[in-house]
Amino acid sequence: MKVTSLPLAAAAAGVALLSTQPATASPLPHQLSFGDSPSLSTTFSLLSSLTSASLDVFTPRLVQTAHDEAPYWGFPHYLRWKGVRFFDVTDHLDANGQDVLLAHSLLSATSNEKKTSSFPSKLSYQKQVGSVHANISESGPRANIAAFTSFTNRYYKSGSGKQSQQWLLAKVKEITSVDENITVEEFEHPWGQNSIIAKIPATDSKAAEENGRIVVGSHQDSVNLIFPYLPAPGADDDGSGTVTQLESLRALLASGWKPSHSNVEFHFYSAEEGGLLGSQAVARSYAESGKKVRAMSQFDMTAFIKAGTNATIGVITDVVSPELTAFNRLLIEGYLDVPWVDTQLGYAGSDHASWTKVGVPSAFSVEATFGDCNLKRIHTTSDTFTHDEYSFEHILRFSRLSSAFIIELAGWGK
Ligand SMILES: [Zn+2]
Repeated sequence: MKVTSLPLAAAAAGVALLSTQPATASPLPHQLSFGDSPSLSTTFSLLSSLTSASLDVFTPRLVQTAHDEAPYWGFPHYLRWKGVRFFDVTDHLDANGQDVLLAHSLLSATSNEKKTSSFPSKLSYQKQVGSVHANISESGPRANIAAFTSFTNRYYKSGSGKQSQQWLLAKVKEITSVDENITVEEFEHPWGQNSIIAKIPATDSKAAEENGRIVVGSHQDSVNLIFPYLPAPGADDDGSGTVTQLESLRALLASGWKPSHSNVEFHFYSAEEGGLLGSQAVARSYAESGKKVRAMSQFDMTAFIKAGTNATIGVITDVVSPELTAFNRLLIEGYLDVPWVDTQLGYAGSDHASWTKVGVPSAFSVEATFGDCNLKRIHTTSDTFTHDEYSFEHILRFSRLSSAFIIELAGWGK
């Protein structure tokens, strides 16, 4: 299908579109005055929805698709459709056209040089990690993925994308309500769907200040490849990473864990599919305000085991920190029941890349080698959790990896 025919595809699915109007869509028919002509008002509403959605899709943005390439004006939806991964850097260039995030990277690369290569070469918390792993179970992820995929889509500019964010916010607050020291905040974005950040303070605040934060991340938005406001359950991309993190957080807190020497943050990013927009905004804000991050680990697609293949953990080796990635392999060998396999994703593959750009060591674990990932279903209505290749057992492996990453780096406070 040519990109120019996309609005027609949307019109054919007008009913679905009406239920997922952009957050900025025109008023609903009953708010307009068309006398007693409901068909005219309904038509007007449909047309205005289509117009604002089409404007959204056909507005060019400054994108970057390779590390050594200058940003250029392109269409994010078309790039997604072609399978090209990209940063949308429109809001992150200075007056001279320089990438503000990269400028931060140069600064932090000199000042943090010693710190960034110091990750453990052996595991130290086997007993504590084991106690958390004993608390990890399928019931939470099953219930959470059913609720999280019940929204028409989680597109970052749609009304249902805002509603799914509100659901996630309430869920994170519910899980963290067991400890009054934990804060849950919305990181506000201008497009409607906010990122969510849960902060768990270390028992030794002085050491935490010195060491910097430990961050684990996933993205909450989903998108339909044909037209972004159409249904997109996103059960794997990235509903799986989202429920992976919810279960990791729940099991850690259920085990009485508190970090000892680093503050820990769970990030649920908005607008990854828009060109890493949410994570870029968060990473830039942290870099500009001098908030130190010691390590960041991303979880994007954790559920799929391709029929006829054995379960593995894909370890992404490009646009990551080699030192932190080596530590990630150590965790997989020490704590999981399946092997790791190195794989590459290309530039701007997921939100970890925003942190790499500002000089924070990042790692990224994924459901398989890139070639065996869920590439046929993602960004379509088929990205559900009800098919044979969607594995909750696999999701739990990543919850174990996330909790082990956190405990081994942030410790266990009394
Ligand atoms: Zn994703």
